[in-house]
Amino acid sequence: MNKGLPTWYETVAKSIIANLEKRRMEGSYAASAEEAKRKVVAMISEGSTVYRCGSMTVADIGLWDEIRKIPGVKLIDPYVKGISREESLKLRCGGMAADFMVASTNAITLDGKLVNLDGMGNRVAALAFGPKKVILVVGMNKVVPDLESAISRVKHLAAPPNAIRLNMETPCVKTGLCSDCRSPQRICNVWSIIEGQLVKGRIHVILVGQHLGY
Ligand code: SF4
Repeated sequence: MNKGLPTWYETVAKSIIANLEKRRMEGSYAASAEEAKRKVVAMISEGSTVYRCGSMTVADIGLWDEIRKIPGVKLIDPYVKGISREESLKLRCGGMAADFMVASTNAITLDGKLVNLDGMGNRVAALAFGPKKVILVVGMNKVVPDLESAISRVKHLAAPPNAIRLNMETPCVKTGLCSDCRSPQRICNVWSIIEGQLVKGRIHVILVGQHLGY
């Protein structure tokens, strides 16, 4: 296999991890999604509560099934099929007090800033405050040079496919392009930029040497 991309991923990941540490966050590198899954499972203690936030990365790699197998773990899952909107909102509130939150980030800059955009805001709220430990699984395709590129990535490459996935009635679903709509179903409502943590090590980013999520 051509070593160019895997070597680049690992080299850049090392530099981002060093920058995360300067921001009182933690980071590690996994060459594959399988390795990332093992790392996440090893970090979650038996009997703990885990808050599920919207993440195609985590769902696509089958991580929720692995987390469910950890003895005694209670998954707080507002995405369970068949529950009412009220029940889902209640679970989103309950997730704020969880021991762990598992998600991804919409973008990460080379100097270690985490950039996210939500429709409702529960994910960005929990990233900022609430769950005791936040574990983020992040494909190297989400790495961007700086904040400006991060915002552009999220608006143009992450939000439209998400709106399509969610069957929203927004212009980007038809055109594939963001027109900064004012649709009632707009999914781009709440931004967050995480530049550091007061509680050292609360956020752990696992950078994965693969293209994951969007
Ligand atoms: S602002 Fe509207 S058009 Fe742009 S990506 Fe978000 S939902 Fe789509």
